[in-house]
Amino acid sequence: MQAVRVHEFGDPDVLVLEELPRPEPVEGEVLVRIQAAGVNPVETYVRAGLYGTLPALPYTPGADGAGVRLDTGERVYVTGSLSGTYAEYALCREEDVRPLPETLSYAQGAALGIPCTTAYRALFQRARATAGERVLIHGASGGVGIAAVQLALAAGLAVTGTAGSQAGGELVAAQGDVRVLDHHDPQHLEAAVELTGGRGFDLVVELLATENLGADLKALAPRGRVVVVGSRGPVEVDARDLMNADGAVLGMLLSNARPDELEAARAGVDAAVRNGVVRPVVGRELPLAEAPRAHRLVMERPALGKLVLVP
Ligand code: NAP
Repeated sequence: MQAVRVHEFGDPDVLVLEELPRPEPVEGEVLVRIQAAGVNPVETYVRAGLYGTLPALPYTPGADGAGVRLDTGERVYVTGSLSGTYAEYALCREEDVRPLPETLSYAQGAALGIPCTTAYRALFQRARATAGERVLIHGASGGVGIAAVQLALAAGLAVTGTAGSQAGGELVAAQGDVRVLDHHDPQHLEAAVELTGGRGFDLVVELLATENLGADLKALAPRGRVVVVGSRGPVEVDARDLMNADGAVLGMLLSNARPDELEAARAGVDAAVRNGVVRPVVGRELPLAEAPRAHRLVMERPALGKLVLVP
């Protein structure tokens, strides 16, 4: 089978397409013929060798994908893989292979795993979002952001989302009753808070804390919480803003979820998938051989939904 391999950590060109033997599942494992693999920012940090835990070399990247189970012929999406999803076949643990309804394409299925589970965990497990609350999805045009907008709308929250391009903003607006702001406008949060009658947001899901955490704290409603999902460096905040709101900043890393929390989040995502709540937007599909380009694109702006690789 064809698979992308990394033999040394480095720039995107270390992603090379190779011929490998097809993996053989043992008990408790499933082999999935991959039709689309999701590309997540974390895979670029790992490939560059700049992540806390690194895989042994050589390895095939990718945790998300969608395709067909070889044993049953069922359409599935995968959220975690033992052998890596940037390949024609991926070996997965049985519990990481979930049903994919006919209503979603394989490319959409490849956008479910990390983005939707992260959005679900941020909203409902870390921030304990409840219906009627005002949420700001700060970075709503990408994989995690669009999932967060869809899940929050379905749960009855009043949603504001930000994007950095007109096309991204249109994508966010198309998700339903969402107020859309441009996160490159330095005044965007002041304007948003004014529109809430000065009260602010009960909840902020922050995709780029490096840029925004200081301003988020000024935009919090009483007892508001910020969940930091993405950050790419240090940031200065005025802690008095947090005091003024009796607010809280909560970190989250999907890999920190306990097994019971992870299974609960996945069950929540499965239900959202079954009920048509989550409908991933796929912005770009590239062939597996273009994995280096995919890794460059996923770190470039603007985000327009999800980027997937197609074997
Ligand atoms: P993505 O699809 O590339 O989306 C990136 C998002 O960040 C886009 O909406 C982008 O908007 C937005 N953004 C860019 N500049 C921004 C700014 N100044 N203010 C606010 N948002 C801004 O990536 P993703 O998969 O959604 O992941 C987003 C981030 O979350 C990444 O840093 C990723 O590493 C992290 N993440 C963390 C976890 C975790 O467990 N904590 C899990 C998954 C992802 P425009 O392009 O429209 O400007």
